[in-house]
Amino acid sequence: MSNLDLKMQDAKALAAGYSRTFRMVEIASIVAFWSLSFAIAYKLWPYAKSYGWLLLAALSFGFILADFVGGLVHWMGDTWGSTEMPILGKALIRPFREHHVDEKAITRHDYIETNGSNCLVAVPVAAAVLFVPLDVEGWTAPALFLVASLGSMIFWVMMTNQIHKWSHLDEDKAPALLKLLQRLHLVLPPEHHKTHHTAPFDTYYCITTGWLNWPLAKLGFYRHLERLITALTGLIPRKDDIGLDAALKIAPAPAEKPQPQKATT
Ligand SMILES: [Zn+2]
Ligand SMILES: [Zn+2]
Repeated sequence: MSNLDLKMQDAKALAAGYSRTFRMVEIASIVAFWSLSFAIAYKLWPYAKSYGWLLLAALSFGFILADFVGGLVHWMGDTWGSTEMPILGKALIRPFREHHVDEKAITRHDYIETNGSNCLVAVPVAAAVLFVPLDVEGWTAPALFLVASLGSMIFWVMMTNQIHKWSHLDEDKAPALLKLLQRLHLVLPPEHHKTHHTAPFDTYYCITTGWLNWPLAKLGFYRHLERLITALTGLIPRKDDIGLDAALKIAPAPAEKPQPQKATT
């Protein structure tokens, strides 16, 4: 066996070893996240009677906030950088870009692959939320609102990939209860999400409920952010996703470089 063959085998073994290790990390993250979520609910439970409305408002706020936060991360993954970038390229950008060319791939992922990486990101936040004290004199209500809204937000951000996957299921594979929730628009409806998968792929990034898609599009929220980032960095949004020509058609014009003054004689 040549040296090259041995090296290639090593690379394969490393890749296989890494993915097995990463799957173990994903499983540990899922267990840790669900345990922390139950611990947060247990921490809030004694206040449910006396602060019921406040908790309900905080949980609802977190639910809506998750749509925004998930959408913002999705917009970043779709719009900036390339799959060649170290770490972020493989971990964050590649799945988003791949999803645009193979929408159904996500439906073939099992529970661990779908939810593992989101749990990994959510675990430190959930742990931090768990340690916020609730019994500080005069601060119980604000602390309860903070813990319940953040707890709810990370729970629904964690659920985003799962909900997104559900929106891509074939009609005959979606359970009746899921279809009802989608029809009531309590989770992302497939028809609504289609807008994001329609060229030029530059809108409707929110994929938890999608409630914020319309107002954010009306406000031109992402276009304003893109204009700002392009002005500061000269980067073209979506260049690596849909190609430079297509991106330039919808991208805000890159900042013009000042023309050198012609010397007059
Ligand atoms: Zn996308
Ligand atoms: Zn999608």
